[in-house]
Amino acid sequence: KLYNEVQELKGNIRVYCRLRPFLPSQFAKSTVDYIGDNGELGLVNPSRQGKDGHRVFKFNKVFGQTATQVQVFLDIQPLIRSVLDGYNVCIFAYGQTGSGKTYTMSGPDSPSEEEWGVNYRALNDLFQISQARRNAYNYEVRVQMVEIYNEQIRDLLSDSGSQKRYPYLAFLKILNAMLLEIGQKISSQPDGSAVPDARMVPVKSSNDVLAKMKLGQANRAVGSTALNERSSRSHCILTVHVRGEDLKTGSTSRACLHLIDLAGSERVDRSEVTGERLKEAQYINKSLSALGDVIFALSQKSAHVPYRNSKLTQILQSSLGGQAKTLMLVQINPDGDSYSETLSTLKFAERVS
Ligand code: ADP
Ligand code: MG
Repeated sequence: KLYNEVQELKGNIRVYCRLRPFLPSQFAKSTVDYIGDNGELGLVNPSRQGKDGHRVFKFNKVFGQTATQVQVFLDIQPLIRSVLDGYNVCIFAYGQTGSGKTYTMSGPDSPSEEEWGVNYRALNDLFQISQARRNAYNYEVRVQMVEIYNEQIRDLLSDSGSQKRYPYLAFLKILNAMLLEIGQKISSQPDGSAVPDARMVPVKSSNDVLAKMKLGQANRAVGSTALNERSSRSHCILTVHVRGEDLKTGSTSRACLHLIDLAGSERVDRSEVTGERLKEAQYINKSLSALGDVIFALSQKSAHVPYRNSKLTQILQSSLGGQAKTLMLVQINPDGDSYSETLSTLKFAERVS
């Protein structure tokens, strides 16, 4: 095993914290007063003085405001590479809306080379290694991309979004589904980690991946009035399936990497929202606490792990626990006004680490 060094780190669950920079429009006092080299983060309550409003949280790693996408990725890379050794991996971005989850996972809108997020870098890395190893191994990479909104799974790589405008796409979709079914029958083993009812798309290069991610983003926008609104209220899961074949021995291995941009963790004021908004908030709350419960049970090596309590944990069941590796990227907004949300984010992190 080449990339097993991360395994040594600390069990199979690790938690990193990333503090995003102040935006140009923000002048508020920071809630974070120090970041230690050893993974410590000091939080202050800006409305209280002295020791009283001060707490220290401990992580496997903390990235400060000046950390670049490249620096963050370097600490994730070994985990990504362990997928090629047959480990299932889940990487979650957790935090309130505006804390930088999407920035970390995908990058900003129209990113420059340096600004690319974890998703693109991960796939790029997998392609580079499979290229370098091509004389000894043959790797096949396929991706799925889904959104979970109000406990409903939506396939982001299907053409259904554009069906109404282009009727012939309906025909193409049927053809695609037929081909997909044939493809699945041909592939030797059933794949327990596949997201149900979502298209599995083969990708051969980073450019292929970019095209698929764009399609996914475009489909995500369909049916929602404001993209940001909707995207902060749903979980987005990009799943990368890797099948490796040892060309000498003919033995094969399979593993998958789930890259998850979670719905915003902010609590809503029940007295202020009603109807759809309240329903959305309840679904998000339920699924995030289900995720917390599952990771907590795993960290306690508990005999019962409550996977069935949400769609999110059901889908990820075969990649959470056992030999699988989990990374929680906890995103923090430095704004003093966000103190109470930040505190609840850090408490969530504390429970699962
Ligand atoms: P979330 O997905 O958690 O709602 P975003 O990723 O959309 O948050 O981030 C909110 C804003 O902050 C965006 O404009 C984003 O580009 C910016 N941002 C977040 N993290 C960083 C960072 N590390 N460096 C620069 N800008 C960032
Ligand atoms: Mg986002």
